[in-house]
Amino acid sequence: MTETPYDLAVVGAGPGGYVAAIRASQLGMRTALINEYESLGGTCLNVGCIPSKALLHSSHLYKQSCEGLEEHGITTGKIAFDLKAMQRRKQKIVSSLTGGIEFLTKKNRIEVITGRARLDKTGAVRVSRDKKNHRIQAKNILLALGSKPMLLPDSVVPSALMDEQRILTSTGALALSSVPRRICVVGAGVIGLELGSVWARLGSEVVVLDRLDHLAGLDEDTSRAFQKSLEAQGLVFRLTTDLLSVAATKEELAIKIQSSGGKEETLQASHALVAVGRKPATQDCGLEEAGVACDARGCVQIDEHFRTTREGVFAIGDCVRGAMLAHKAEEEGTAVVESLAGHRGHVDYATIAGIVYTEPEVATVGLSEREAKAQGISYKLGKFPFSANARARTSSAGEGFVKLLFAERDTRLLGAQILGAEAGTLIQELVAIMAYRGTAEDIAQI
Ligand code: FAD
Repeated sequence: MTETPYDLAVVGAGPGGYVAAIRASQLGMRTALINEYESLGGTCLNVGCIPSKALLHSSHLYKQSCEGLEEHGITTGKIAFDLKAMQRRKQKIVSSLTGGIEFLTKKNRIEVITGRARLDKTGAVRVSRDKKNHRIQAKNILLALGSKPMLLPDSVVPSALMDEQRILTSTGALALSSVPRRICVVGAGVIGLELGSVWARLGSEVVVLDRLDHLAGLDEDTSRAFQKSLEAQGLVFRLTTDLLSVAATKEELAIKIQSSGGKEETLQASHALVAVGRKPATQDCGLEEAGVACDARGCVQIDEHFRTTREGVFAIGDCVRGAMLAHKAEEEGTAVVESLAGHRGHVDYATIAGIVYTEPEVATVGLSEREAKAQGISYKLGKFPFSANARARTSSAGEGFVKLLFAERDTRLLGAQILGAEAGTLIQELVAIMAYRGTAEDIAQI
């Protein structure tokens, strides 16, 4: 058992944890970064944002080469793809980025400790590694434990069937070595739609089901237009439909579903992707023992300064309330460490954009129309289609629209939804307007 005094011990080296550790070190704190796996970067770099965006880009290039060139008068020979090469490229990007974080931790003199951490009663961190139990003492502890895929009850999808070969979470769906013949995606959220798009572009039949009537938490009009666009790419949607059970024979999966008010049906598929959300990874970390409370969803409870119910222990990122997004975790990591160093750490939650990296992309920021209605906020809408924008038309990007929500009282921009090519890049202009509390008039003037 060893004991080393640190100013800050960060548990979890995802975007929340590694950014916090780097900032802490820059601000003069002696910092330890503890991560269960040797590969740093957490979910985002290893099995989330980065591998999914790599496969989205490769599969988009393939699809575009097959279908998008002819109208430009460009003819090609037969286009083919090599999935192994695509997966190799993805892995190379992941390795180079995780290696980059390792470099940054060294450069910033952060002590990286590999092993699974638990808090103990005394408020220290215990790390089991090489069959030894290390005790890490720090003035402050930052929990950046991240999240894990949410699974369905055993009565619906038996956990014994979750083999990441045929019945998959996002982790398995990013690592397939052959293209599924027919994949049933359970959950029309961001992850289900992105990974469903990847496999549809590469030739899978994709059926997406969801018990809700709209996609990815979007407003009704954005969701409808987005669905239409994905349907044109071959994805089939079964909304307001419940998954009842999944059974497996050697050859096929039998997926029992029931649409709202309808009869039970059975879909046959070669694969199923369970993409029904993510849950905070707060189990088996000694939180209860250490007096760190979690809410009913398993999120670590924090106040507005990221303080947990145990003094000196803070928490950020996917393991606390709010959007499960990498840049939200990074912002919180920076804010908490700057506050600890006596600066004014702050996160502007109203300007955290969310992006679905499909084609077209969908990007949102701030209030949706649905939320404004639910909260009784009076608003005015501005909506403009890309089909009326000449530049978009010349780039074959006339699909979709920009929808802006303004406060009725003073026309301050409250939120935006963009469906269209490069929506994820365009939304940044609106994020900046919102950050400066801009109005409809400001946008018109600019
Ligand atoms: P994580 O990245 O989950 O990192 C937590 C780390 O802590 C992990 O390394 C874990 O092993 C470690 N850990 C946990 N418990 C312990 C313990 N007891 N001891 C030691 N180590 C521990 N977000 C975006 O913003 N944009 C995207 O495009 C995007 N795409 C995504 C695509 C997919 C398929 C998935 C699954 C997620 C995506 N996300 C995206 C979400 C993003 O990955 C998360 O929001 C982000 O990783 C959260 O960062 P974090 O630091 O809170 O936690």
